[in-house]
Amino acid sequence: MKHPYYTMNQLMHEHYGKKIRKICIDGGFTCPNRDGTCGSGGCTFCGERGAGEQLDPAKTIREQAEAVLSKAPADSAWIAYFQNFTNTYAPVDVLKARYDAALIDDRIKVLDIGTRPDCITEEIAALLAEYAKNYEVWVELGLQTANNETADRINRGYHLPCFLNAVRILKQYGLPVIVHVILGLPHETLDDVMRTIRTVNAVGADGIKIHSLFIMKDTVLAEQYLAGDFTPISMQTYIDWAIEALTHLDPKIVVHRMTGNCLRDLLLAPDWIIQRDLILTTIDRRMTANGLSQGCRYQAEDCSM
Ligand code: SF4
Repeated sequence: MKHPYYTMNQLMHEHYGKKIRKICIDGGFTCPNRDGTCGSGGCTFCGERGAGEQLDPAKTIREQAEAVLSKAPADSAWIAYFQNFTNTYAPVDVLKARYDAALIDDRIKVLDIGTRPDCITEEIAALLAEYAKNYEVWVELGLQTANNETADRINRGYHLPCFLNAVRILKQYGLPVIVHVILGLPHETLDDVMRTIRTVNAVGADGIKIHSLFIMKDTVLAEQYLAGDFTPISMQTYIDWAIEALTHLDPKIVVHRMTGNCLRDLLLAPDWIIQRDLILTTIDRRMTANGLSQGCRYQAEDCSM
């Protein structure tokens, strides 16, 4: 089904003429917001295993890539996605060794690095720009919100200027930036969401990943939720806000994701988060029925922070 927004699948068909899938990799990194360097405890929503509950940290990087590629068709194409924790949080020679360990096959076309803005330096951008001579390279930054008060509330460990600086460096080296955004963070309203979308537009992001806040068991967020500090938004509100965000999003920005992904056993609330197909279909149907598409309301003020 064709979505009323510019999807990663569409981009990959434009670049490679086919669907391209991800090898999700645990690169053996930690996070400065967990180890005490910039903070401890991590972002309130982050579980013990970061974003890698389904990954196997016992395997080497090469073994993780081989496990997927050994079963993959010869004509398939892949993204090596360093997903878990902060994948630029090490000296440059260590980063190079770990990225090289994943790039073991011609079928890998994209090197995709998930990280934090406070772990982007000129030196790291220069290293990634070297890879960009042979691969498509993406850098994913976890912004979640442009609101500094919310950032403090979720213990993100950096403020907006840090994000702006990281994007500036990455853009200077010609590296595409994908921004992670969460809708429904505690005490945020649609106004906060739209300010975040304006920020994503204003910095010239190349991609965005959007999902609704979900609460994993055994996190700080879970404690706050169980103490009644906030109420998660409903599926209906998420769909309303997501559509509002998409219609004001620069139509050039690729939408890499519109739903979250949490293992059932680890999910505390809200239950509706696992109904990913229903969420995506409802967004598509509502937008199509109302003649809406990504960026249909996008105008100059949607680029003001
Ligand atoms: S920056 Fe990422 S890995 Fe680090 S605590 Fe926050 S969500 Fe977890």
